[in-house]
Amino acid sequence: MLVLVINSGSSSIKYQVREVTTSEENVAPYTSSMPAINERITLEQATLGAEGDEVLTKGLIENIGEGGEIADHSQALDVMAERLDRELNGREIDAVGHRVVHGGERFSAPVIVNNEIIRAIERLAPLAPLHNPAAALGLRAIQKKWPEMPQVVVFDTAFHRSLPEKAWRYAIPDAFYRLHGIRRYGFHGTSHDYVTGKAAEFLGVDREDFDAVIAHLGNGASVTAIRGGASIDTSMGYTPLAGLVMGTRSGDIDPSVLTGILTRNKDVDAERLDEILNKESGLTAVGGTNDMRELEQRAESGDSGAQLAMDMAAYRLAKYIGGYHVAVGGMQCLVFTAGIGENSAAFRKLVVDELSALGITLDPEANEVRSAETRVISGEDSAITVLVVPTDEERAIAEATAGLVEARIDHG
Ligand code: AMP
Repeated sequence: MLVLVINSGSSSIKYQVREVTTSEENVAPYTSSMPAINERITLEQATLGAEGDEVLTKGLIENIGEGGEIADHSQALDVMAERLDRELNGREIDAVGHRVVHGGERFSAPVIVNNEIIRAIERLAPLAPLHNPAAALGLRAIQKKWPEMPQVVVFDTAFHRSLPEKAWRYAIPDAFYRLHGIRRYGFHGTSHDYVTGKAAEFLGVDREDFDAVIAHLGNGASVTAIRGGASIDTSMGYTPLAGLVMGTRSGDIDPSVLTGILTRNKDVDAERLDEILNKESGLTAVGGTNDMRELEQRAESGDSGAQLAMDMAAYRLAKYIGGYHVAVGGMQCLVFTAGIGENSAAFRKLVVDELSALGITLDPEANEVRSAETRVISGEDSAITVLVVPTDEERAIAEATAGLVEARIDHG
């Protein structure tokens, strides 16, 4: 099945076409955490090839909207359709899978799109004002252009719907939750879910018996506690600003710092503060760049700010890992993934060095290996296995999409 995977932003659309092989025997690891879609169709019934998919083409369409070269999302789709015609040699798309940032409290799994689902995504706009309206524009533009095309939405928050209330509640007056939905949602769910499945499979452990801590370390970074294959806690919160020290985001901070900044600086209002915390903080604020490769080089040549930025990020992450080790009742496995997690041996070493109290050690040679494969990097004497598992969110979205569409064809 050819699946077009779309990430629709307000002024750009990122796309990728994946061929997903479906077969009776194989059930993709990603499907195991998805609950029933409705009474008749479950993803257990959707059968997928775990290995057979590949990227056929990908691209980015930019400058959409007012003042841009492309008037709106409909026109952007015309541009994309023209490109796809050329790049796919006449092969046709069977289904479209969309990445949607916020599924709020409603969505705990991917779903097939209809008008009501699009309206629900729009209603969640107060929780993701930049992202959800843009995703809805992409969904409607496809509906208009290809009315018969099956579409599936995959939510960044959905995997974390299994958090217990003690993990998702904030200790603030109840009205903020009831009236404004202020609670922990968590993000990067598609990646955490996919990597959990891959790690369990690699270790030969049934997903339901798999307890782990997954560190997704990209420009945005989050860490998730996995118990019995499900998310029970995660470092991002109401928004993706919480938790780890990230490329340009502060992560956790004493809330009084924010009120202090606002009351002492007349030129900083809430909007500006949001920008400072999201775009000018984190590794950039301390080390001068959000690029881990550059930080590594600068630290090696004696730049103390770069070293401090890396140390702070590693220390914060190690504290989360220690806490989540307790939360999951003892992790079987620690997993590194995403840009930094997959590629920065130096950062992984800093993190694992902080974890010596847990008896975790690295195999220095294995840690230096560069590979696109899942691999063990812990030492033979390590009390807990440490893995690097390459993430692939587009693949997870393509597989979820193919699974739901197949199930609908088979049983609908
Ligand atoms: P992502 O958001 O997953 O694309 O990850 C982006 C982050 O990964 C940036 O901080 C990059 O500097 C980092 N990264 C990518 N490749 C490497 C590499 N070879 N070594 C160290 N960091 C890397």
